[in-house]
Amino acid sequence: MKLAARIAQVPASMTLAIAAKAKAMKADGIDVLGFGAGEPDFDTPEHIKAAAKKALDEGKTKYGAAAGEALLREAIARKLYRDNQLAYNAENVLVCNGGKHSLYNIFQTFLDPGDEVIIPAPYWLSYPEMVKLASGVPVIVQTDLSENFKITPSQLKQAITPRTKFFVLNSPSNPTGIVYTPAEIRALANVILDSQVWVISDEIYEKTLYDDAEHLSIASLGRELFERTFVSNGFAKTYSMTGWRVGYVAGPVEEIKAMTRLQSHSTSNVCTFAQYGAIAALEGSQDCVTEMLSAFAARRKVMLDYLNAIPGLECPQPDGAFYMFPSIRKTGMRSMEFCDALLASHQVAAVPGIAFGADDAIRISYATDMDTIRKGMERLDDFVRSRLA
Ligand SMILES: *Cc1c(COP(=O)(O)O)cnc(C)c1O
Repeated sequence: MKLAARIAQVPASMTLAIAAKAKAMKADGIDVLGFGAGEPDFDTPEHIKAAAKKALDEGKTKYGAAAGEALLREAIARKLYRDNQLAYNAENVLVCNGGKHSLYNIFQTFLDPGDEVIIPAPYWLSYPEMVKLASGVPVIVQTDLSENFKITPSQLKQAITPRTKFFVLNSPSNPTGIVYTPAEIRALANVILDSQVWVISDEIYEKTLYDDAEHLSIASLGRELFERTFVSNGFAKTYSMTGWRVGYVAGPVEEIKAMTRLQSHSTSNVCTFAQYGAIAALEGSQDCVTEMLSAFAARRKVMLDYLNAIPGLECPQPDGAFYMFPSIRKTGMRSMEFCDALLASHQVAAVPGIAFGADDAIRISYATDMDTIRKGMERLDDFVRSRLA
C-alpha cells in the first residue's frame, strides 16, 4: 500500500538499526562489542520492581485516568519542586509512555503546518522526525567541537523567525554528553524572553552528571519562562527503566489539558502498574541512582583516556549522560562509512554521527561493562591506526 506522505519521509531509527545488526552478528557467534546502547545496562532496582509487582497483585490492572495515576502526578510535582525548584501541581503534569512520547505529544498538540522548531545539532535523532510528523519544520542550528557543541545566544537569536514556536534544549545532551552551565542557560533564557518562543526542555539525563557539572532547569528562571516552558523527563535513564515506558511532561495547566485530550484518543493511560513502580522510584531511596552514577563515572574516565590516546580522534570531555562523541574528521571518513568498516573489520558497534546531524563524529555509549570498554577501545585504536596508516 502507498504510504502516507507523513510516514514516507521518516527513516527508521538508526540507533536501533545498528543495535539490530550487532545483535544479529552476535547470534551468529561473532564476538561483537556493542557501544550503540542508548540505555543503562543495569537491572531496574529491586524496590521499584517490588512496587510494580505489589500493584499488579492488588489489581492495578485496569484503565486509569488518561493523564496518569493521581498519586504519580503528585509525586512528580513534588519531585519537580524538590529537585528543580519548579512549583507545579499534579494538574500541571501529564504522564506519558516515556519521555519520547511526552515530546511527541507536545509537537502533535501545538504545531501547525509550517511552524518552526529550533533544534541545535548534534541532536537526539527523534526531535526532527517528530517535528516533521507534526507537519512542523525543524530548523537545525549547527554547533561544533570548537564551541563544545553548545548553541550560543546569538545563534539562537538569529534562528528565531515569526514562525518559530519552540526551542528544544537538551542538557545534559544525547549524543554529546555536554551540559550547559547555569550561566549559559541564563543567557539563552534572555534570548527566549525577548521573543514569543516557547522552550521544550528535555531533562531526561538531569541526574547523570560528573565532577562539578550542575543541572539548571530553564523553567526555574522566573515566572515568564516557567509559563512558557515544557519540562520533559522520565524514568528510563535515571532509574534504568527503559522498557517500562513511563515519562512525563510538565507545563501550564491549559496546555497539559490539551495534550491529555490527544493522549486520551491515542494511547490512553500509561500501563497502570508500571506507574506504581515509578512512584517507588521517586519516593524511595535514591542510593540506586548514586550507585549507577559512580559506575558510569569510572567507565567514563577509562573510556576517555583511551579515546584521547587514539591519534586521529578528538573527543571533548562529556559532563553528563553516558556517551562519548569523538570527532573522526581527521580520518577522512564519513560517519556511516566509519561505523560500517569498524563493525565489519573489528566487530565494534558504534552509532554514526549523521544520525544526530553530525557526519564527522560517532557516538559511543559507555552504558556497558568495563571489560567491554577496554577491549572495544583497543579495537577502535587498532582500527583508526590502520586507517590513518
Ligand atoms: C532516552 C531519551 C529520551 C526518552 O526516552 P524514553 O525511554 O522515551 O523515556 C528523551 N530524550 C533523550 C535525549 C533521550 O536520550
